[in-house]
Amino acid sequence: MASKGNIDKCSFCGREKKEVNLLIAGIDGHICERCAEQAYSIIQEEVKKDDSFDLNTVKLLKPKEIKEFIDQYVIGQDRAKKILAVSVYNHYKRLAQRIDDDETEIEKSNIVLVGETGTGKTLLARTIAKMLHVPFTIVDATVLTEAGYVGEDIESLLTRLLQAADYNVEAAERGIVFIDELDKIARKSDNPSITRDVSGEGVQQGLLKLLEGAIVNVPPQGGRKHPEQKLIPIDTKNILFICGGAFDGIERKIANRLNTKVIGYSAAKDTDRIERENLLQYVSPQDLKSFGLIPEIIGRLPVLAYLDPLDEKTLRNILTEPKNSVIKQYKKLFKIDGITLEFEEEALHYVVEKAIEFKLGARGLRSICESIMNDAMFDSPSEKIENLFVSKEYAEGKINRTNIQRLKAS
Ligand code: ADP
Repeated sequence: MASKGNIDKCSFCGREKKEVNLLIAGIDGHICERCAEQAYSIIQEEVKKDDSFDLNTVKLLKPKEIKEFIDQYVIGQDRAKKILAVSVYNHYKRLAQRIDDDETEIEKSNIVLVGETGTGKTLLARTIAKMLHVPFTIVDATVLTEAGYVGEDIESLLTRLLQAADYNVEAAERGIVFIDELDKIARKSDNPSITRDVSGEGVQQGLLKLLEGAIVNVPPQGGRKHPEQKLIPIDTKNILFICGGAFDGIERKIANRLNTKVIGYSAAKDTDRIERENLLQYVSPQDLKSFGLIPEIIGRLPVLAYLDPLDEKTLRNILTEPKNSVIKQYKKLFKIDGITLEFEEEALHYVVEKAIEFKLGARGLRSICESIMNDAMFDSPSEKIENLFVSKEYAEGKINRTNIQRLKAS
């Protein structure tokens, strides 16, 4: 730390060596520990800014590329993927738009996904968020209630998003919120009770404000337990809301609508073409209204996509095809112990059969595999084996010894 005749001091703050704990020498100057720390925090801030979603730096993927990305994680559901890819692409464009006075403003296209539970609604939304590198949060609509009632206020949706964004308001304002079980806040149309519909229409009205785009004061810690917390204003204009729901029983509404229409136009041929098996593919905003969503909410969810029920072939592919499929994960786990894991094709079919038999859907694939693999995962690290082959017989043996009820519960 030699200096040319002068007293050593920090070249940034000017403090002398005796005033600081540490003075680091450079070629032409010095820096004290305080200035070094400050410099570090400036760097951190800048890095954070770079990390956040920036349209200038983000590569604008075309809808086809967006679908290709989703394809790596989600099997099937081609129609829903296409619809989502277009909406996300438009969302990008919307974020990039500069609104001049006479220009058309591209409106936000929030999305509603209708499909049985376990068909990949959450996975789709999660995958999109992963691709966009934007903050993402999942909230269950069932916990939401009108302000003042037991449950969570609507604003809590944004608290979670803010937390996911590490309290970076700008990033949160471009995030994605997945609202699961939207169907559970449908108006109970058959029950126009005298008591207030606490979790129904009132919540929908609250949600409407968020979907439309508004400045909402958000409690950063959430809940009502911290009344002293300072509220943070968040603009929801650019937040993309993706809603999902099973809408149990909506098939009946669809069938009713289709029948009326068919009779009205006496189009016998159309009736024949209607596939009774998968009525969901005909879902329209009108059916959501009949189900109990208020028209204003439906208007704010202009993109409607349905998900197909998962058939045997799709379930089989889900086991091995996605980038982080269950089977790939097991192979990786065993590889760490130096063991090459292989599955007999019949064993994989057996897993799918069981998932269908126990009505567990795609969610059950993992729990079934877990029951099959558990003993092997316990024993093999201590055994000196290099290969493990899971045959159908092996899988059957393990499943027969498993408590089915436990599988169903997981
Ligand atoms: P939902 O939100 O429709 O109830 P999820 O997206 O949570 O269903 O799916 C549950 C699990 O099932 C996911 O974590 C995923 O592992 C698997 N899964 C469901 N559908 C698919 C699919 N189409 N492709 C790949 N995996 C799927």
